[in-house]
Amino acid sequence: MDDFYRDYILDHYRNPRNFGRLEGADASAEDLNPLCGDQIRMELKVDKGGLVQDVKFSGKGCAISQASASMLTESIKGKSLSEIATLPKEAVLENVGIGISPTRMKCAMLGLKVLKSAAIGELAAWPDEA
Ligand code: ZN
Repeated sequence: MDDFYRDYILDHYRNPRNFGRLEGADASAEDLNPLCGDQIRMELKVDKGGLVQDVKFSGKGCAISQASASMLTESIKGKSLSEIATLPKEAVLENVGIGISPTRMKCAMLGLKVLKSAAIGELAAWPDEA
């Protein structure tokens, strides 16, 4: 992995952005990656128009899992739930770099997977939007 991505990942791992719990969250989900022991929980606040107002994540695990979740939370404020539900894995890969092994890929994708389940769950709960 090249130095730029390594430093960027370590920075997010040591100083995770939007880390913690969100009081009165509208949507949340959590999941784990048993292969590595990573855990991620995502909590979202959504406005009446279905746009994400705020997001926080919590969890523990390896640097890649925590850093990629942290990076994701920085990029989704103001996005709609349906945009989030269909985010491609490139949304993560462009942050963590493409030089990660297949095993590490599960770590990198955990945050995205959890975020999508939160968004999809909330979309399903909306009678008008489902
Ligand atoms: Zn991991």
